[in-house]
Amino acid sequence: MSHSLRTLDDGAWVSVDDRREAGASELWRVRSVCDCVVGDLLVEGVVDVGVDGRAVTARVAGRCLTCDRETVTGHLPVGRVVEGSYRPLATGAVRAPPNVE
Ligand SMILES: [Zn+2]
Repeated sequence: MSHSLRTLDDGAWVSVDDRREAGASELWRVRSVCDCVVGDLLVEGVVDVGVDGRAVTARVAGRCLTCDRETVTGHLPVGRVVEGSYRPLATGAVRAPPNVE
């Protein structure tokens, strides 16, 4: 199963099969990205996209609105591919790099 994954518009978006699925100005709840237990990361740009099993991941640049830290994250999940179609992560889901799960 092959899907087209890339960034669009100078890293503003994660594109899955030519649809803009996640990107800048979204607010993500994150773990292990800054010093907060759960931070509120304002996504400012997409650095890289990837696939981890069925999960679609992205490294993003952003700023935590809680502690004000600017950071570039590791690969965080943005959604997954289920039965051939892309499903975004729930809006309130807490995202963390896979190595801390
Ligand atoms: Zn923080």
